[in-house]
Amino acid sequence: FRGVIAVDGPSGSGKSSVCRAVARHLGLRYLDTGAMYRAVTWAALDRGVDLTDRPAVAALCRALVLDIATDPGAPGIAVDGVDVTGAIRQSRISESVSAVATNLDVRADLIARQQAILAEEKGTGVVAEGRDITTVVAPEAEVRLLLTADESARIARRARELHGTDDAAALAATHAQVVTRDARDSTVVDFLVAADGVVEIDTSALTFDQVVDAVLDVVAE
Ligand code: C5P
Repeated sequence: FRGVIAVDGPSGSGKSSVCRAVARHLGLRYLDTGAMYRAVTWAALDRGVDLTDRPAVAALCRALVLDIATDPGAPGIAVDGVDVTGAIRQSRISESVSAVATNLDVRADLIARQQAILAEEKGTGVVAEGRDITTVVAPEAEVRLLLTADESARIARRARELHGTDDAAALAATHAQVVTRDARDSTVVDFLVAADGVVEIDTSALTFDQVVDAVLDVVAE
């Protein structure tokens, strides 16, 4: 395969691990666009920029040097030379990232950067994941997929990622996070309904390996 595999989906759809596995399997590069929104959020918090001050956050974003590694075996991201690969997964980032991602001037800047990365990597082949890849970043991608899952499956998955268990306490702690973030994010991007020509895979009842196989089947078609 050569070209772009575009994958969108809500949080907890399992798309990050699936996309990395697919990229490794096919020998492709991997672009995690969510990591870029998280990195801008990290920088804004680090520098004390008020997240509700949209022009200030957009100006900060445009000035940042974002270095994103596209090796599916070792994804990573640095902001102005500082490795923030671990820091961007903290819950304070997950809680604030929607405020940054709903800033349309930030989106314009990051979308342009993502398109430049895809233009560079598509000769090798690249799997790009996010919320608006199939519709805005790479609507011409060779393969376009939406990974969905019902709410309880997404909350259970996120609970296992964050707390290592999906017992009642972990589910309760995760519920608000997943539901609130998706509700906020979907005010600017529609990642809940597959756009024309986008293949939807409902992962609710599938194992990880089954989802990877389903994606590989679509790519092979
Ligand atoms: O995929 P992940 O959960 O790491 O994404 C973090 C956040 O980045 C999302 O909640 C959303 O606010 C934003 N995002 C986006 N568009 C993308 C990818 C992520 O708005 N293409």
